Amino acid sequence: MSAYHVAFLPFPAHGHINTTLPVVAELVRRGHRVTFATNARFAPLAAAAGAEVLPYESWLASRELPDRVDAEYMVREPVRSIDEAIATVPVYEAGFADDIPDVVLYDVSTFAAGRVLSRKWRRPAIELFATFASNEHYSLTQQIGDLYAGEIDREHPALVDFFVKQGRLLRDHGLEDVTLEEFNAPADDANLVFLPRPFQPAGDTFDDRFAFVGPCIGNRADETPWHPPGDGRPLLLVSMGSFSFDHQRALVRRCVEAFGDTEWQVVVSAGQWTGDDGLSIVPDNVQLHRWAPQLAVLEKADAFVSHAGMNSVMESLYFGTPVVAVPNMPEQRLIAARLDALGLGIHVPPAEASAERLRAAVDRVATGTATRERVRSLSEDLRACGGPALAADYVEAVAARRTIVSRTE
Ligand code: UDP
Repeated sequence: MSAYHVAFLPFPAHGHINTTLPVVAELVRRGHRVTFATNARFAPLAAAAGAEVLPYESWLASRELPDRVDAEYMVREPVRSIDEAIATVPVYEAGFADDIPDVVLYDVSTFAAGRVLSRKWRRPAIELFATFASNEHYSLTQQIGDLYAGEIDREHPALVDFFVKQGRLLRDHGLEDVTLEEFNAPADDANLVFLPRPFQPAGDTFDDRFAFVGPCIGNRADETPWHPPGDGRPLLLVSMGSFSFDHQRALVRRCVEAFGDTEWQVVVSAGQWTGDDGLSIVPDNVQLHRWAPQLAVLEKADAFVSHAGMNSVMESLYFGTPVVAVPNMPEQRLIAARLDALGLGIHVPPAEASAERLRAAVDRVATGTATRERVRSLSEDLRACGGPALAADYVEAVAARRTIVSRTE
């Protein structure tokens, strides 16, 4: 079997990296070479998975995010990502100059760079979706746009700027034959989706360009081992994801208020706030972590209060744990709605997330027989999805196309 050189260009954030590292490890185990472009934060994790690291700094990943995302912030996101692509394509290009990969994997947040480079190098590409995938029938961008209906003008200068800069990016890289419509296609010719098909809205409209491999759960060897209390009491995880915002601080406090001194054992990911303004003074049944060992806790947990980031939701369902979703960002609102619609958890809008409401929702998902049964069944589907092994098979199959193309060139 051929050994391939595989390039990963994922956006450097936990939600984009965690599910890709087990795929890297599997490819390396099979004898392929992986080059993983990432920033200083994730370089050690990529190296530990066996990849060679191409270091770069991402302005987009290190920016200060606003506490609340309004329409005016949202409408500038596309042009921010094009500015990032304009800055990073030359860095990737220099890094791969003497060693062009056989296949290029990029994600929804690095799509412009990934599409420019794969087309310039004439190599097959795979788009990675650690969120809902998009095709001609279902568009995540459209769904998010609908949440701001009436607030975003389609002629907004930031949107015009986005297309102007995109056209310039294509010309600067000799891709003037590629139309903007083609370039902005909702997906690539090959796509890896880290969800099970039943969780994807309009799932049956996704053809064989999409491989639904489910979440790829790796070992988090860098985390301190965690042991459950082991006293038979029900276990709850509370986490608002890998980004800390002011509004989440209030929610974490409310969870401590709701579950302190109850029968629940509570593990809280408190982010950067641990130890300040009294949040660290908590009842005995609450454990505060700056960074929770999420997989280890979910494996034993009875319920999860989450911001409904896609990785968190998939990890929870993988371990058969129902979710109480308190979303904030637009994408999280769609994920929370999907969870609720499929009966795998309860969507509690942040404005309604009082201590009483949270406690009632957690009790309901933890004890509801029908919810538990649906979650158990989806957990079985998730474990049967194929995960890293299926993803690696898919990468090999796509990389093999390149070998066939070049033999016939
Ligand atoms: N995570 C963790 N411990 C924490 C907070 C987050 O291990 O205390 C991990 C979690 O397991 C998941 C990722 O960080 O893999 C967060 O990704 P998600 O898509 O859920 O949310 P985001 O942080 O991107 O909003």
